[in-house]
Amino acid sequence: MRSSAGYPLSPCNARGKCMADYELICSKMSQLRRKGNKAMALCPAHDDKSHSLSILYREADDRVLLHCFAQDCSAESILKAVGLAWRDIYPQDGSPYTPKLSKHTREQVKSAEWLLELVPVWSREGVAFTDKDRADIYEAQRIVNGARGIK
Ligand SMILES: [Zn+2]
Repeated sequence: MRSSAGYPLSPCNARGKCMADYELICSKMSQLRRKGNKAMALCPAHDDKSHSLSILYREADDRVLLHCFAQDCSAESILKAVGLAWRDIYPQDGSPYTPKLSKHTREQVKSAEWLLELVPVWSREGVAFTDKDRADIYEAQRIVNGARGIK
């Protein structure tokens, strides 16, 4: 399951809850390189040699984001590979969060804004963007501009 911007996002209702989930997820990953609320690790869902997995926690809206840059592994498969299930992390949601694509909902705009905010973070980490990532970023920019009334 993917968000509109192509990245699995997680909804958390209890404020601060996702920080604990972020800690839990980080604790399960191998060769973790962590700086506060951002981490890179070997993706457990494929044979990873190059820290392809990005794990981020954003306090502003209390969410954890998982993204595998190498093979686009799903959040579900990443969690499953370390013995977690989506329900362990987000008991109120049966699957990774996927905003509707049909119209620009507030959720979708928020996701797009978040993705755009993360682009410089990933760039600093030396992440190589794929064509799909670039398309997602372009789409996110379009959504955000649309929401702000910019053509
Ligand atoms: Zn992967």
